Amino acid sequence: MAPQPAAPVLVDGHGRRVGDLRLSVTDRCGLRCHYCMPPEGLTWLPRAELLTYEELARLARLCVTRWGFDGIRITGGEPTDRAGVWRLVELLAPLGVDLAMTTNGTRLEALAPRLRDAGLHRVNVSLDTLRRDRFRELCGRDALPQVLAGIDAAVAAGLSPVKVNAVIVRGRNDDELVALAAFARDRGLALRLIEFMPLDAAGRWVPTAVVSAGEMLERIHRVFPLARPPAEALSGGHDEPAARVPYADGRGEVGVIPSVTAPFCDRCDRIRITADGKVRTCLFALEETDLRGPMRAGASDDDLAGRIAAAVAGKGPGHRIGRVDFVRPARSMSQIGG
Ligand code: SAM
Ligand code: SF4
Repeated sequence: MAPQPAAPVLVDGHGRRVGDLRLSVTDRCGLRCHYCMPPEGLTWLPRAELLTYEELARLARLCVTRWGFDGIRITGGEPTDRAGVWRLVELLAPLGVDLAMTTNGTRLEALAPRLRDAGLHRVNVSLDTLRRDRFRELCGRDALPQVLAGIDAAVAAGLSPVKVNAVIVRGRNDDELVALAAFARDRGLALRLIEFMPLDAAGRWVPTAVVSAGEMLERIHRVFPLARPPAEALSGGHDEPAARVPYADGRGEVGVIPSVTAPFCDRCDRIRITADGKVRTCLFALEETDLRGPMRAGASDDDLAGRIAAAVAGKGPGHRIGRVDFVRPARSMSQIGG
């Protein structure tokens, strides 16, 4: 039998295959996490500037059918704060790829069954503290009970594996590393500890606020021994943004995302589309490619694909945090789509 031609894939200028799409559905959010948004919020995009669910789904379909993208994550801002977000899930589910959402969990208790029925596979829920007073202080709203109920609802709905994302910031919540690990172990949740990145709109990031992934693992290892020593776990390289380490007692695993101290850039396979329809090839990119304007002017799929491919061809080799020539992007994490 004649060999089948290889399916076309999207490859950037550094030889990395791109196959993971982050779709931001809104820049708005009801929380004010200290590492993301200032207390007064940001200037929200006018509604007319947001891509419609049909427009978002068209771009996602293009990436999947043309280049075989295998994962889509819906994010924001807070994706569950956009009305009827399950309708987007319904549009994306037939694409048959891994379909996930990152959420702050505040609306999950009510939405989890609806999202699952619409075709969502799994969720990552952000949770940086288990103390109600501290949640209010770090996230700007008294919403810890809702988030905990949201996590339970996601588990009950089978949106698994339910992952818990915690951004650890020195002096703010690093004293809860072990408590967060215990919380996740007790509930069979996958914990993802994230290094604080210079993407906060309030400009609070300083290098000394970063707790390195190595330090996080060391501190957990002292209480809940890991199957591999932290240094070894981080030195071996990892095939995804998180370095995952099982606990020695077999009760789950912890993952760390060392975006600052040991970034995943050389294996990065992501692109992002912002809520207003711009392609960003890196969280720290300084350039964006507009798709909304051409799309609303009647661009064909071939035209849009050409624009995405050109943006990907120009994807940089990696971020430059810590170097003298590092320039912070103008948009914060909530405006890009984390
Ligand atoms: N609102 C949703 C949430 O919080 O999960 C989704 C959007 S949020 C921007 C996506 C992820 O980015 C969250 O896990 C959040 O903790 C993380 N994040 C936001 N700002 C960050 C920063 N400066 N450094 C590291 N992670 C950050
Ligand atoms: Fe909202 Fe998520 Fe940013 Fe927190 S991290 S302010 S929940 S967008």
